[in-house]
Amino acid sequence: MDYLSLTEARDALRKGETTSVDLTQAMLDRIVALDNDVNSYLTITDEMALAQAAAADKRRANGDDTPLLGIPIAVKDIISVQGVPNTAGSKILDGFVPPYNAFVVDKLEEAGAVILGKTNTDEFAMGSSTENSGFFTTSNPWDLERVPGGSSGGSAAAVSAGLAYAALGTDTGGSVRQPASFCSLVGLRPTYGRLSRWGVVAFASSLDQVGHFGRTVADCTAIFQATAGYDPRDSTSLNVEVPDFEAALTGDINGLKVGVPQEYFIEGIDAEVETAVRTAIAKLEELGAEIVKISLPHTQYALPVYYLIAPAEASANLARYDGVRYGPRAKGSDMIDSVKKTRALFGAEVKRRIMLGTYALSAGYYDEYYGRALKVRTLIKQDFLDAFEQVDVIACPTSPTTAFKIGEKADDPLAMYLADIFTLSVNLSASCGLNVPCGFDSKGLPIGLQLIGNTLQEATILNAAYAYEQATAWHKQQPTIGGNL
Ligand code: GLN
Repeated sequence: MDYLSLTEARDALRKGETTSVDLTQAMLDRIVALDNDVNSYLTITDEMALAQAAAADKRRANGDDTPLLGIPIAVKDIISVQGVPNTAGSKILDGFVPPYNAFVVDKLEEAGAVILGKTNTDEFAMGSSTENSGFFTTSNPWDLERVPGGSSGGSAAAVSAGLAYAALGTDTGGSVRQPASFCSLVGLRPTYGRLSRWGVVAFASSLDQVGHFGRTVADCTAIFQATAGYDPRDSTSLNVEVPDFEAALTGDINGLKVGVPQEYFIEGIDAEVETAVRTAIAKLEELGAEIVKISLPHTQYALPVYYLIAPAEASANLARYDGVRYGPRAKGSDMIDSVKKTRALFGAEVKRRIMLGTYALSAGYYDEYYGRALKVRTLIKQDFLDAFEQVDVIACPTSPTTAFKIGEKADDPLAMYLADIFTLSVNLSASCGLNVPCGFDSKGLPIGLQLIGNTLQEATILNAAYAYEQATAWHKQQPTIGGNL
């Protein structure tokens, strides 16, 4: 039953064909059997999961039918679950147990979901491969020698390998969409503020947003629907109505205007990726969409702007890890020495970002780097606002390549940063974006189509993805790990 979709599992629960305890036990057994190879989970919360499953079965017996009742899901290990270790993939938080739930976890519990465990991530979500995790590297279920993408690579690998029905991740620059692309999943980065960030470890606060993974558009929509909403504890959370996203999946995209940005089909993009994405865009046209050539002229600045703003914000956010309030504390000859030794627990990439960010914010350089990056961010935002005057959706690749080999880019930060070249602008602007599977390359590795929508227009991109998915069969292919179930 592992490769049932979330919505199929929900139907089976509703019809009484299975129970949440059975579904949860089957998932836990599969995790024990396969996760030694995939390494997607950092913590497995089996006891809690089985207790939640039993409670869900009881609720159902009493007539309750909340949307995720009894469905086993996974949570990225940067989102707090009360009483469960939350490491953010960092040794500096080893042993830290949050005393409260993140807003999105409260929402999951309200919706009746069962939490199987916490999934691996690049340290503080900085990375595109999970190789920056302070603990271990996760493998891509489609090819265990390759990365699953990152930073939410543990969540992507778990859902892809059938070790959870859906999962939460975070997307600061592409960390949901890029791993979704590498693992053949639907991955949504909602509009900034659509969900509260309360209880999510901060990386770059003006860019961070919780996102969602599912094996189908409907699955991804179901977990998104359950976790969206306003929360006064996050001052950037938007006090707007949450539409019925599931009802918006009509599959009708007749007359939808789809923009194709010329700047996203550049030299360096893998030829097989380009062909698959162009074929997918032709499919959208066949389904009734009108394809419009557009330009996002400041695209080339997205990467440098992101790598000034994100590290600047990270350097401020990570100042709190001094060994006094969270996680382990190294012994030192005095307080300063102790803080120094504790902060040596950060991995190389995190240290690099702290140095970059501190430099960009320092007196004398602030205006030249951080201040200028903010100005160019405004131009990038304006590009998108102008584009959305003409079109409803923007279509382009999610990633310039398919999944790369573990170790291939690990020593080359610039090459790694380029993995997010097509996803960063969504975070810098006020847009939303998703990945939907659109094919495989000649090595059998997944390729993804990115659909970008205007502020709060998640329903539009989800429906476009749904229409595409219903007309294609990519989502029916699963990795053969553990047998083709
Ligand atoms: N890969 C990008 C980075 O390293 C994006 C990460 C993310 O979205 N969390 O910053």
